[in-house]
Amino acid sequence: MNISTSQALFEKAQHFIPGGVNSPVRAFRAVGGSPIFIKSAKGPYVYDEDDNEYIELINSWGPMILGHGNELIQKAVSDAIQHSFSFGAPTRREVEMAELITTMVPSIEKVRMVNSGTEATMSAIRVARGFTGRDKIIKFEGCYHGHGDSFLIAAGSGAVTFGTPDSPGVTKGVANDTLTAPYNDLAAVQKLVDANKGHIAALILEPVVGNMGCVLPAEGFLEGLRKICDEEGIVFIFDEVMTGFRLSKGGAQERFGIKPDLTTLGKIIGGGMPVGAYGGKAEIMNWVSPLGPVYQAGTLSGNPIAMAAGLTMLNYLNEHPEVYTKLELSGHKLVNGFTNSMKKLGLNYTINSIGSMYTLFFTDQAVTDFPSAKSSNLPLFGKYFHAMLDRGIYMGPSQFESMFLSTALENSHIDRIIEANEESLKEVI
Ligand code: PLP
Repeated sequence: MNISTSQALFEKAQHFIPGGVNSPVRAFRAVGGSPIFIKSAKGPYVYDEDDNEYIELINSWGPMILGHGNELIQKAVSDAIQHSFSFGAPTRREVEMAELITTMVPSIEKVRMVNSGTEATMSAIRVARGFTGRDKIIKFEGCYHGHGDSFLIAAGSGAVTFGTPDSPGVTKGVANDTLTAPYNDLAAVQKLVDANKGHIAALILEPVVGNMGCVLPAEGFLEGLRKICDEEGIVFIFDEVMTGFRLSKGGAQERFGIKPDLTTLGKIIGGGMPVGAYGGKAEIMNWVSPLGPVYQAGTLSGNPIAMAAGLTMLNYLNEHPEVYTKLELSGHKLVNGFTNSMKKLGLNYTINSIGSMYTLFFTDQAVTDFPSAKSSNLPLFGKYFHAMLDRGIYMGPSQFESMFLSTALENSHIDRIIEANEESLKEVI
């Protein structure tokens, strides 16, 4: 495959951008080789600068749940642009957006729009701290909540991919206020809570993890956490930046029937534009400025173009439940296909999946937490990644990521992915 234009761009990019990219995982460091530079995308396909076509499993790390170039969203954006780009003042669409989010996401009574998932999680823990008057938070090893200082402790996603789950630059004071527990380990959480009675403001987690690869909550885990938070007056936060509007129209909380106190959102909520949000119980959200004393603001928050894209996306998802049926069927078909291929090849790798999220881990162990995710054979994953890319399948370039299916994938595309997977496994083992 000729990727010479991408290679030349990457060469040049490294002179001007740290590592040649604006977000670390994009650099392909974990899998070796040169990243492909994307020129355009439509439906289930992306096209690189050398005009190679790939079937998409990244989908912008989640937002493009309807595939690329959705015509409704394109039209909404081009209509909105006719009225200028940003006002820094309230607009009608922000009200419609907030109302729609509160109807779609079961636990959200009030919501504030921001510009990214990182902003959402940073702001959510600030309001939790203001509300409780406590300093400490609990997060789980291998969960990623964006690049806010408090979360770069035992962090997943690119942070673990590059061997820096605890980032330099985070002060000891901040790090000391973040307590970490192993995912799926209720007893460990109880122990932390008992040892820090009256000091824990919030417990935050990905209700389904995407950032150590796809890892599911064990039965009773989310319920157990809800109970501990209730008993101790801890603000229970679901980070649904990845799972929101993906695992169902009301996110993981609807799928599992658990109501957190606060929820953070991103990715799909912007329809591909930079948007995030945090929301939850009115009694907590009323602490946010200007109603309450917890300060949080943003020049471009609720940006009219981003709201047009996001509102169109959410309205579509709200009105088309068949989206989720299709995603479930695609997920099942893909996982069955992968499982059959592995049986045929005498392999016993672990595939974790739920709905339209999945990760094939190159380990025989069940993957339920950070250590088991890290038991994967990373060099083998790297070879597999390139074998898939050579066959026109564009996956997340790290073992510690979830793949995302979109509704643009038809059965014929899933068949091609299954076939490429079997051939790639044969090639690399
Ligand atoms: N939370 C989760 C669960 C995420 O997956 C991410 C990004 O991947 C974030 C927060 C941060 O979002 P953003 O990259 O928009 O800042």
